[in-house]
Amino acid sequence: MTVLRVALDLPLHCLFDYRHENAGCAEVGLRVRVPFGRDERIGVIVEVAEGSDWPLAQIRPAIEILRDIAPLPADFFALCSFASSYYQTPLGEVIMQGLPAGLKRLEPPRRRQARGTRSGAPAVAPALTGEQSAALAAIDLAAGFSAHLLHGVTGSGKTEVYLRLVERALLAGKQVLLLVPEINLTPQLEGRVRARFADASVVSLHSELAEAARERNWLAAFAGEADIVLGTRLAIFTPLPRLGLIVIDEEHDQSFKQQDGMRYSARDLGVFRAHQGNIPILLGSATPALESWANAQNKRYALLTLRERANPAATLPVVTLLDTRKLPLQEGVSEPLIAAIKERLARREQSLIFLNRRGYAPVLSCVACGWVSRCTRCAANMVLHLADRRLRCHHCGFEQRLPKACPTCGNQDIHPFGRGTQRLEGWLQEAFPEARVLRVDRDSVKSRKQWEAMLERIHGGAADILVGTQMLAKGHDFPKLTLVGALGADAALFAADWRAPERLFAQLMQVAGRAGRAELKGEVLIQTQYPDHPLYAALVAHDYPGFAATLLKEREQAGFPPYTFQAMLRAEAPLMADSIAFLKAAANLPVIDEHQNVIIYDPIPMKLSRLANQERGQLLAESASRAALQAFLPRWREAIKALKPPSRLRWHLEVDPLEF
Ligand code: ADP
Ligand code: ZN
Ligand code: ZN
Repeated sequence: MTVLRVALDLPLHCLFDYRHENAGCAEVGLRVRVPFGRDERIGVIVEVAEGSDWPLAQIRPAIEILRDIAPLPADFFALCSFASSYYQTPLGEVIMQGLPAGLKRLEPPRRRQARGTRSGAPAVAPALTGEQSAALAAIDLAAGFSAHLLHGVTGSGKTEVYLRLVERALLAGKQVLLLVPEINLTPQLEGRVRARFADASVVSLHSELAEAARERNWLAAFAGEADIVLGTRLAIFTPLPRLGLIVIDEEHDQSFKQQDGMRYSARDLGVFRAHQGNIPILLGSATPALESWANAQNKRYALLTLRERANPAATLPVVTLLDTRKLPLQEGVSEPLIAAIKERLARREQSLIFLNRRGYAPVLSCVACGWVSRCTRCAANMVLHLADRRLRCHHCGFEQRLPKACPTCGNQDIHPFGRGTQRLEGWLQEAFPEARVLRVDRDSVKSRKQWEAMLERIHGGAADILVGTQMLAKGHDFPKLTLVGALGADAALFAADWRAPERLFAQLMQVAGRAGRAELKGEVLIQTQYPDHPLYAALVAHDYPGFAATLLKEREQAGFPPYTFQAMLRAEAPLMADSIAFLKAAANLPVIDEHQNVIIYDPIPMKLSRLANQERGQLLAESASRAALQAFLPRWREAIKALKPPSRLRWHLEVDPLEF
């Protein structure tokens, strides 16, 4: 009698035993159709055993072992099992979320032949700069595991370094995994990869691909047919039999962290995977995550630096601070910025005004009674969208028609308060009637097609002034863009979230990096009420290392990551009292006393304390030792499970949380 130990997609930390008559055809890594309750499910065989801890009579027979694809390899299981224990997520969930949907279906869709696309004649590579050559010389693809952090200023040609490495890996017969934060925002990169490696098979893997395409691409990667896999965070789990190199572009980007389900970091799993596969990994950014920077400082990662822009005609833009306390403003825009835009219009160059707040105004308010447009479901304001005359909550998506009068006192004098991209767009169009103003945010660009069309318009010179959110900040080359103005940045300076300054710096550095990427010189004007703030001083000096050193010192003194390790227990329920009571109980479990080197803080409401009618609380667990925290978490989790919370309460544990 053979027993199959099967991973199923269930929130349970156990495997399920099934009988199978024919030992010969059972194999670890194959999918299997099994009965579960009154249903059937697809699972993955994790172990083939001789017997079971259960009485054989209680074990049900498996229905069918699926052999349509080869067994999942051992390194896939090793990665999943590491992720499962590190992120406190059931192995079955980890394994199943690593597979494309079609492979988890009881009735599999008809499959078409897997194929990557091949394009025409390859694009020619530019001659490398000295810095690029030096960076490349430091990486030996044949020397086993190594982790490198490529810190290069915007436009320094990091992508060219990736491409040259990819080329070497392909020549050595290896597959390459290239991760990017959001493929849709950077179609240029995909284009560059395909153009450079016209003879190679390039497939992409991201959540917006149609299901069939995603499965096809996954199968091509899994079968070793695809040479280059270009993907977002979920691609980190793709089995790749010939994997020889991992590259993570914009490694600081938050979207490498999954924020629901299994809350994993694809960047950190990438480093584990490189280690496991004994291959090099390259992390690239103009503003590395402080965790990565600290790893480079303590030599766990080798630091490679590109200080100059790659295009010899391009220089870094000059950054100037505009003190809004002393300057006349029109609709929040200062006179020097207005004058700078005028100059660009006269020279037929492009300007970009960065305001990371979409909508017309962040809130609508009544002057008579003080009513403000709150979301009834969240602890947040409803944003005014004048274009479609609606109030919209950016957290839960709840919408309302714009009221004609104050809902509380009936006063007709209700006003938008503050400024979003729509309002700025309207004002710029009035102030510069001859200019073509183009707004770029998630309201004006909803799909990849729209985004590509938008980029084409910008490139084709069909816009003089761009108004946009951080969508515009990511890796684009706009040759005619010579002015970047940043508004409303101060808001993040004093935010409660201690990671806010790191993010603000990265964002401003990225958006500033759009200016002067070609022959035309770039200028960046940042409006602020705090021109003496060290963050702005570092931006003016283009001094990421200096700023990172300051932040790291602060974090060390305050005992924040990367100097401590954290896990967050979160609970949500219709009543805050229930959430907090549950967290209090979790904070007082006896198991905590057995782990002296782990500190448990007091439960508190989350910053956005109510989201979609759920009252949310959090409880921080912290340790100076990652190993100590990792030893504690599974025991704590087991004890929490036994707490029996109220039925409408949901909880989860997040390891290395980024959001507070
Ligand atoms: P990054 O990714 O560091 O922001 P990119 O790789 O996009 O920079 O390069 C910026 C610009 O410089 C691109 O237009 C690219 O074609 C160009 N470039 C890169 N390397 C070189 C080089 N060695 N010589 C000339 N131009 C280069
Ligand atoms: Zn009122
Ligand atoms: Zn809401």
